[in-house]
Amino acid sequence: MLVPVSSRAVDRPDFKPGYNFYSPQDDAQLGKEWSASIDRRLPLLDAAAPLNYLNTLGKQLVAFAPNNRPEYAWQFRIVNSSDINAFALPGGYIYVNRGVFDAAQDEAQLAGVIAHESGHVVMRHGTHIASQTVVAQGGLAIIGGLLGQNGSLTSQLARLGLGLGVDSLLLKNSRSAETQADEVGTYVLYEAGYDPHAMAQFFQIIARKYPQRTLLFFSDHPNPESRIADVDREIAGLGPRVTRPDSPDFDATKRYLAGITPSPPAEATKNDAAKQPPPLPSANFVRYQGKAFSFEYPDNWQVQTNEGGMTICPQGGMVSSAEGDSAQAYGAAVSLYSPSQGNWGLVDATQELLDTMRQSNPQLQVLQQTGANLKGSPALSTLLQSDSPLPGQKETDHLVTVRRGDSVLTFIFIVPTPALAGYAPTFDRILESIELGH
Ligand SMILES: [Zn+2]
Repeated sequence: MLVPVSSRAVDRPDFKPGYNFYSPQDDAQLGKEWSASIDRRLPLLDAAAPLNYLNTLGKQLVAFAPNNRPEYAWQFRIVNSSDINAFALPGGYIYVNRGVFDAAQDEAQLAGVIAHESGHVVMRHGTHIASQTVVAQGGLAIIGGLLGQNGSLTSQLARLGLGLGVDSLLLKNSRSAETQADEVGTYVLYEAGYDPHAMAQFFQIIARKYPQRTLLFFSDHPNPESRIADVDREIAGLGPRVTRPDSPDFDATKRYLAGITPSPPAEATKNDAAKQPPPLPSANFVRYQGKAFSFEYPDNWQVQTNEGGMTICPQGGMVSSAEGDSAQAYGAAVSLYSPSQGNWGLVDATQELLDTMRQSNPQLQVLQQTGANLKGSPALSTLLQSDSPLPGQKETDHLVTVRRGDSVLTFIFIVPTPALAGYAPTFDRILESIELGH
């Protein structure tokens, strides 16, 4: 909380990061590896003048960031995308889309975005999420094992199901993390001499003016409804402010970027899995270690947990259905099914599950069903054909069901039928790698 003061001599507010099992050194190392891998995949702008401007501005701002550490790299990159978005990796790697430059009306608004992102870095939100995942997946007992293992932090996180792509779970900040990044951002703007309202105003302007270009931003940055009021309350505590004028480089950079052709919007390629299928599964596998089961999966797929279970999915494997929902067209999913009646057998319970699935996919057909054995547990292997969420395509699904306590643990492997041959060896290897807990 901020203490109201009446003079410019401000007590630095007390910013407290959430619990974290990793060290700031880990943040630095993680950001280094992560940025090296995504830099190759992002359309980064390679132009000295705008990058110098952004890096100079960024470093001026983070000089005022609380909890800053000498380990942090503080590197600022421009992504040549018109989507209005920005994100920060642990350890001080900040990516600003050119769309932010297009939309910012003055330097304070651009500085606001950078200051907000710096808040995610110094409050260490990425490794805080990793720490929460450790707790959710088995508590402190497994940390010793994880941290004691050889191998990079990146591979340790992969074992937790935390991939390091551009849509990693480690970037999915909670509303409270967003509020904290706002608080840090407001403080940094104020200390640097910018109008501290500019950050919250920019978020409000872009949400209103460019709704379709900010989808990604607000999926990565849940928008706290009380953002403006919260910021105003914080500013009231900071005392009178000095403001500095925009540097001439701000307009020069905007003009320069306006003359460059942006890369095609990410949304277009994302929802175009029909024309552009996901990259083939990698031959390198990493292990997901859960409490009830573990399995190996290709290292270019991502594990996402959701209310119904988890999906293990290549980039671009989720598509938008006609109804606008997100549906899985490629990859695997794991869930628990609770049969409606007690004292059930696996065949009947699987039949009931298939009936449930048929309600949302009436074309679902059982091609073949055989008994199987999953690491000593009796299982049922069911081969299905149904409609793919990709328009006009059929998909082949392999459903494997096994009893765990009062529930049926289900693994389903999903691929459009024409692509089955390319995916079958990967599905087999995942299946063979499954280990069941007790
Ligand atoms: Zn944020």
